Amino acid sequence: MDLKKFRSKSPWLLHYNTGSCNGCDIEILACLAPKYDLERFGILNRGNPKQSDVLIVTGPVTKRARERLIRLYLEMPEPKVVVAVGACACTGGVFRHMYNVLNGVDKVIPVDVYVPGCAARPEAIIDGVVKALEILERKRKDFVPPKVCKNLEVKEPVNRKFFLEKCLGVKNGS
Ligand code: SF4
Repeated sequence: MDLKKFRSKSPWLLHYNTGSCNGCDIEILACLAPKYDLERFGILNRGNPKQSDVLIVTGPVTKRARERLIRLYLEMPEPKVVVAVGACACTGGVFRHMYNVLNGVDKVIPVDVYVPGCAARPEAIIDGVVKALEILERKRKDFVPPKVCKNLEVKEPVNRKFFLEKCLGVKNGS
């Protein structure tokens, strides 16, 4: 069975709010509702990072949300794509340079598609997700498992702290 074929026809989506005002979250939910019907692209909104291909992030990254965002990103199988939805996720937006935020999502994890707007419009979100699916398809074709992470998975399947420090240089509590 070619699992890759099914993954490209039915990508699953994980939505994470790193500190948004909920404006962009409501627009994402509107995209999934029958009026805009994002599911017509075969997309399903799932709550499990281990089953997801597309990570949609809303809001500026607060210091508290940073490590959770990194963990979710690492738990998603490769290849994957990240979509930053709204001005806050792109650059920090109205929360930029506040004492408790790290600004845009790309300060913490790599971002593939930026969807601007405050709040981002459903049409722009759908456009961003469709672009993300094209990038995902390209990534699937070129994907080679990274050696360092593969070795770590074999030796240390549950040692997340070690994995975070080795792969991303994240120190606990920083
Ligand atoms: S971009 Fe605007 S609507 Fe979206 S989370 Fe930021 S402040 Fe809220």
